[in-house]
Amino acid sequence: MNQDIQIYNTLTRKKEPFQPLNPPHVGMYVCGPTVYSDVHLGNCRTFISFDLIFRYLKYSGYRVRYVRNITDAGHLEGDRDEGDDKFAKRAKLEQLEPMEIVQKYTLGFHDVMRMFNTLPPSIEPTATGHIIEQIEMVKKILENGFAYEVDGTIYFDVEKYSQTHNYTVLTNRNLEDMLANTRELSGQDDKRGRLDFALWIKAKPETLMQWASPWGPGFPGWHIECSAMSAKYLGQEFDIHGGGLDLAATHHTNEVAQSEACNHHQPAKYWMHTNMLTVNGTRMSKSAGNGFLPGELFTGSHPLLKKGYSPMTVRFFMLQAHYRSTLDFSNEALDASEKGFKRLMNAMSLLPKITASATGEISIGEIRKKCENAMNDDFNSPVAIAELFEAVRIINTLYDGGLKITADELQKLTELMQYFIYDIFGLKDEDNSNTAFNEVLDMVIALRREAKENKDYATSDQIRIGLQEIGIQLKDSKDGTTWSKS
Ligand code: AMP
Ligand code: ZN
Repeated sequence: MNQDIQIYNTLTRKKEPFQPLNPPHVGMYVCGPTVYSDVHLGNCRTFISFDLIFRYLKYSGYRVRYVRNITDAGHLEGDRDEGDDKFAKRAKLEQLEPMEIVQKYTLGFHDVMRMFNTLPPSIEPTATGHIIEQIEMVKKILENGFAYEVDGTIYFDVEKYSQTHNYTVLTNRNLEDMLANTRELSGQDDKRGRLDFALWIKAKPETLMQWASPWGPGFPGWHIECSAMSAKYLGQEFDIHGGGLDLAATHHTNEVAQSEACNHHQPAKYWMHTNMLTVNGTRMSKSAGNGFLPGELFTGSHPLLKKGYSPMTVRFFMLQAHYRSTLDFSNEALDASEKGFKRLMNAMSLLPKITASATGEISIGEIRKKCENAMNDDFNSPVAIAELFEAVRIINTLYDGGLKITADELQKLTELMQYFIYDIFGLKDEDNSNTAFNEVLDMVIALRREAKENKDYATSDQIRIGLQEIGIQLKDSKDGTTWSKS
């Protein structure tokens, strides 16, 4: 187990040695997407960053339970419990059931995550699947005196909570300033305090998604789902809680308050926040209308794009920035990443062609240490990538015969490249001319043809659907079957 990892903790505002509560086990909870529309590239950046963290912790010998939720209910348009329900609005627009919307965009999200080669989380719980747990938590917060009911809606009492707790512990904001910057309550508001937020919201008769509760039919507020699901799967106290930086001020601040009010302690030891993907300096978001969909990026169909970029180029582009820095999207930066990624992959293809010598002039241990040091320093992938390019330079020189390497060191060089590029950075070769891949696919297509000839349509369909799920489309014609990546 690697004990040299330092993590920047939003809670303490400094880097701290990573000491999990129950090593080698690590519990990590990341706020997932709200599945009422397609995820944009900004959302993807957050999930790719946590994928890198998940992968590096596993490489470091930890056994990580990674929980990433799906928000599929209870998300109103305004952050302060006002506006339409996003799912209901979308369902009306697309003339579908809200759960059809949820299913459609969850599948789309999974497709995108697979394209970016992110590992699936260990558990992916949904808000609608955990209504009972959320109700139980609201009940406890009420019992503990930190919430109140107004006509079927339950609000968290921020003022009462602030008498004994630091409500802004995550962001260190001044409560008075926050109050001054929050809209005054109007006569129509039910809540008592401007900063109070809903734990449970009373349903109107026409509300599409509603559940029975001790306070009548309603639906959960947005923040309670993550408190309830993280406690259920990782315990009331766990190691890492993460999400995008935009969540720290509201969603995560309220999560801390809910857990403290319910369980009397902080939910997570380390809070980690990824910085925003921006376009010309403005945060990419659905509401700002500057959210590229991954599909538009791959095909180059967005007006801001000169051309399309492959998923691995985009993943590499994201890894070239530290997760706590903002990353500005531009064609030039993506062009540079495309070149860098090709150089990396080219070095991988040269590696097996290098022959070892009896004596050598290089030692790989130091480069590996530098790569690990960079990742130990709060997952500093850009520095680790810069170190890997030193290995790329060595590979190119070895291939040209300008350097000698022993068999033992060549083995270490190969391992270093494979661990970092494939296992930790999650990059993969995208070249369709990969012969082993083509041969396996030809074999599978031949098996399907055989099944069809034997009228075993169940098997032939299973093969076609299975390939589709991993992004391979088959096209049958009178000349045979061809395939393409979707
Ligand atoms: P949402 O679906 O809007 O709830 O967001 C899902 C995740 O993406 C959250 O962790 C957000 O903080 C994160 N996120 C949203 N916009 C961006 C962005 N422009 N850059 C990075 N992460 C983002
Ligand atoms: Zn959350």
